[in-house]
Amino acid sequence: MVTLSAMLRPLVTQFHQQLVRQARSHRITPVRRCNLTACSSKYVLSSVHPMWKGPLVVPGGDRQSPIDIVVRKSVLDSELKPLVHKYDPKTCQQIYNNGYSFLVEYDDTTDKSMLSGGPLRDKFRLCQFHFHWGENNDWGSEHTVDKRLFPAELHLVHWNSDKYSLFEEAVMEDNGLAVIGVFLKIGKRHEGLQKLVDALPAIRHKGSEVEFTHFDPGCLLPACNDDYWTYHGSLTTPPLTESVTWIVMKQPIEVSHDQLAVFRSLQFTSVDEDVQKSMVNNFRVQQPLRGRTVRSSFTPFLQGPLNADGSKHSH
Ligand SMILES: [Zn+2]
Repeated sequence: MVTLSAMLRPLVTQFHQQLVRQARSHRITPVRRCNLTACSSKYVLSSVHPMWKGPLVVPGGDRQSPIDIVVRKSVLDSELKPLVHKYDPKTCQQIYNNGYSFLVEYDDTTDKSMLSGGPLRDKFRLCQFHFHWGENNDWGSEHTVDKRLFPAELHLVHWNSDKYSLFEEAVMEDNGLAVIGVFLKIGKRHEGLQKLVDALPAIRHKGSEVEFTHFDPGCLLPACNDDYWTYHGSLTTPPLTESVTWIVMKQPIEVSHDQLAVFRSLQFTSVDEDVQKSMVNNFRVQQPLRGRTVRSSFTPFLQGPLNADGSKHSH
């Protein structure tokens, strides 16, 4: 049987070579180890954004992401451990507008910024994080909880460095990636996020990047690190490979409306394009569960599934 992975491999390789060529001709940075190839996520505009028109857009398999998490159908797994993250802010390198989102990229040549525990049996290296968001505060997240939409969602992308030697290898394989998803809701200004928000005007247009250092991504995780849902899924941007162990945090983080407004001031387009397009609605449409089980690390019926203040979510 020809696997999706086998079908995609030549396409990804071709696409990656293209990116490397672009990098060599236009950029100072040599080879981007963790890049748009798959690491980034993209969009909403399934039929509009150019990212979805390329040769990498292939029919998915049975384990695609994102999904709606139905709380009462999630299954408590008491074996699920707390997440263990050890991030070294010194591995933070740059921030990059890839024309679909902005990526905060980390040096992943060593085991300095790592994720383990939770549902993971291996150790995973952080390579980048990015967000998805809407044109307003009513939608923007990729995952939903009982159909509830959040205005934005953070994805911290890690690859399995116990089993693989490069992101590009891990992305094509089972158990290759672990992505933490964190919902953003509107509330208080997020002090940790502000350093990032302040850097965004410098990468307004597609293809721009600036140095961005000493940023601890741990500051973007919710205070309660132990409650999450987990399931097997895919990247939400091409090549859409089903290599991802998703870990979606129950508790959202709060950011201010003004901070998200700066996200929306970014552009999908490069500086020389005549028609500029605001970077908004950069999420993928939801995908069917197809018999998969979503496990939870906490008892769904004893705790409010969503509210950060501990009150119960009512329907
Ligand atoms: Zn993403």
